[in-house]
Amino acid sequence: MFTSVSEAILLKHGLRSDRIWTSKFLYRSIFRHIPLFLDTYVLMKSQYWSRERIERIQDERLKDLFHHVTHVPYWRDVFNTAGVDASMSPREILSKLPVTLKKALVGKRMDYITDASLLAKSDPDYTSGSTGKPFHFLQDWHASLRSFAVTERIFRSTGKRFPIVYMRARPRNGFTFYRHVWFYIRGYNSIRHRVNDFKELGRQLRKGFILYGYTSWVVELARQMEKLGIELPVRVAMVAGEHLTESDRAYVERVMKTELFTLYASREVGFLGYECELHNMHISEEWAYVEVVDENNLPLPPGREGRILVTTFDNRVMPFIRYEIGDTGVMTDSLCACGRTLRTLTFKGRTTELIELEDSRTVSLLDIAYALGSYRDSIRQYQIIQTGKVSFVMKVVPGSSFDAHKESLDALMVRLLHPRVRIQWELTGTIPEAKSGKAVYFIRDFENKS
Ligand SMILES: [Zn+2]
Repeated sequence: MFTSVSEAILLKHGLRSDRIWTSKFLYRSIFRHIPLFLDTYVLMKSQYWSRERIERIQDERLKDLFHHVTHVPYWRDVFNTAGVDASMSPREILSKLPVTLKKALVGKRMDYITDASLLAKSDPDYTSGSTGKPFHFLQDWHASLRSFAVTERIFRSTGKRFPIVYMRARPRNGFTFYRHVWFYIRGYNSIRHRVNDFKELGRQLRKGFILYGYTSWVVELARQMEKLGIELPVRVAMVAGEHLTESDRAYVERVMKTELFTLYASREVGFLGYECELHNMHISEEWAYVEVVDENNLPLPPGREGRILVTTFDNRVMPFIRYEIGDTGVMTDSLCACGRTLRTLTFKGRTTELIELEDSRTVSLLDIAYALGSYRDSIRQYQIIQTGKVSFVMKVVPGSSFDAHKESLDALMVRLLHPRVRIQWELTGTIPEAKSGKAVYFIRDFENKS
């Protein structure tokens, strides 16, 4: 079949073959700018291609992936059990495969869930997992190489070209290595002690920079900037998707005098989505096949909310296929007015962040975050601890107007949670962060024995 040069690059044929660029010599050398350049060049174009063309590329990439997973014992077993065969189309095969839960992979022997021949060309990583054990996984160089360009496109889509200041607790595989400055931060609570370092950074990067970090970190930095009257040349603020309320977005934009964009990513499956200039979240469909499914794991039509499943094309050492990322969302089918043809997704929340109450009532933590967002002067930080089916401790770092608003906050929580809810407010100076350094908004501190 005829493929254009651009398609050949996306499909990693010919000159863009991974066989060449993941050789030990080239991958670790300055030559890795070449595939980065080629991939970025094509990805900047392919986001505007026809749907038909994008879907054809996805089919090719799925076919290629399914061919490769036979090197992984775990996937060989899954494919055999699912009863799929080579005569089926890639999407048919996909629909027959079960959903992969993280807990199905945690604790499995590495040689069972990986392609042994790629171990030498892979980097280890783990998710700290705010609930439960860390999950150790591998990302191979094939995936990292493509991911460099996927992340490069995310930043270029802001329309601004500045150095990227990346606030992180530890490095991350597959993040663009080109023009980025790594700003090490232990965690959320250390930001207020690093204000002088930020000021120094502002002096060094006087012409401006793109600030990227967890949502809670960027919001916290804005708080410190406002409190201390500091200005930094932040041209774009970029945050990782979760927990960005409209009021947080407006707050960061006002204090930092900047425009804020979100991206959608997870450590295991990489950089899945990015916001365009119209602030719609486009899926990186050249990198991953994303499904929104119902309770029977069947794909839902656009406009219906469901669980998000992800299949990534490039990570061959440890494939993630129909991987349940733990989020819910809604896929949009209408094309975005920005001209990009990549489908858009509205993130609805993390399934792990649903608060379960009496009478099988569940409340999304995101809804509470939205509501509390309009009480910024009363609540500077919060953590909701569920101590029983309808009892909660609200740990709060109070702001100046907390006392004045306490009654309406009580009423708000009753309205949001449950008519019989009991709230105990606990005022504190600081709220501990998670191991990853992120802020922790919710803790379930009781056994649900229903
Ligand atoms: Zn758009």
